[in-house]
Amino acid sequence: MVLLNRVHNLKKTNIFQDVLARAQGKKEVVSLAVGDNTGPIEKEVIEELLEEVRIFGTEGGHKGYPPEEGLDSLKQWINKIFYNGRFSSEEIFISDGIKTDLFRFQTLFGPEARSSFFLPGYPTYKEGCEIIGAPTHPVYLDFLSGFNPLVDNVPIFDVFYLCSPNNPTGIALTQKEMEALFAKARNNGGVIVHDACYAPYIQSKKPRTVYFDEQALDVAIELGSFSKWAAFSGIRLSWAVVPKELKFRDGSSILKAYTSFLNATYNGVSWLSQKMGCALLKRGNIYLKGVETTMKRVVSMKELFRSSGFEVFGGEDGPYFLVKTGVDFLEKYNILTLPLSSFATRYKGFTRVSGFVSEKNWEIVTSRLQNSF
Ligand code: PLP
Repeated sequence: MVLLNRVHNLKKTNIFQDVLARAQGKKEVVSLAVGDNTGPIEKEVIEELLEEVRIFGTEGGHKGYPPEEGLDSLKQWINKIFYNGRFSSEEIFISDGIKTDLFRFQTLFGPEARSSFFLPGYPTYKEGCEIIGAPTHPVYLDFLSGFNPLVDNVPIFDVFYLCSPNNPTGIALTQKEMEALFAKARNNGGVIVHDACYAPYIQSKKPRTVYFDEQALDVAIELGSFSKWAAFSGIRLSWAVVPKELKFRDGSSILKAYTSFLNATYNGVSWLSQKMGCALLKRGNIYLKGVETTMKRVVSMKELFRSSGFEVFGGEDGPYFLVKTGVDFLEKYNILTLPLSSFATRYKGFTRVSGFVSEKNWEIVTSRLQNSF
């Protein structure tokens, strides 16, 4: 046998399935583990989707394959709403999810790239690298420093997968911390891939994008997604920004390489998802309503856990926060949360709590925690 099995060390299921399995067979479990926004999508957006579907059923209305890099109209909306029109259409690529795009960039940068990321963090940073055989150097966040990202601890890297605000901590980097990371990348010829999945949830003055000014243009790619704030996880729609200034060490353009890579390996995102994205964005800042509700929920959840005697961390700028447990929430309260040890085994005794919870379930959690003291 000559082939190397690169995936045999990966976990057989994703971490969330493992957690759900624990709750199976138990009655009246309330979940605070879900990291998915399944709220209803705006009626007007659905109407536009239905109209688009109808067009596909008409003679001559079927448009065939979409452009590999995405619809120009959607790119323009993204550029306008998230980046103040800073980029050209060629620098924005529409995709069907950050998860897919992460693996694309991991493949593009290849097995020689020394890759780093904060842990606990989104598992694909590590697992995607492991699949392609790229060496990884995790930077562990520490509860003694409140799970804050310590950029000084970041080693020299070829690629750094940054998630701000982070899943699972809900903590975002300050502008100064980002600038320190950009300097590290620039001084050592590295590139940052910023996973901005939860950026619209940032409540503080911390940057929602690495492109808050021009500094990151030659060191960072940014990945944005409609999954969480727009409840599009089941629709699948995201984007990647690859600034034209970004270069490989030999001086060649990352933008050009990525365009060729996509043309060779991808046939584009469904017209329907893209049209829904346009329909949503042209309605302006409407999406922030959902974000506001979730973040208000996070504030009251943190307060409840604190007043119930638990230490809590993070959650200022993202829909998740951490609780130092001391007890098994599932056993004691019939409440399911996501143990931090499922991100990295060293984090025993902490758990992630999610703000994506219905009003009804929140009331049940409140009464269970309040009645237990
Ligand atoms: N990045 C982070 C940090 C996530 O938590 C998730 C989903 O939970 C994703 C990316 C996946 O995003 P998408 O639905 O765009 O693939």
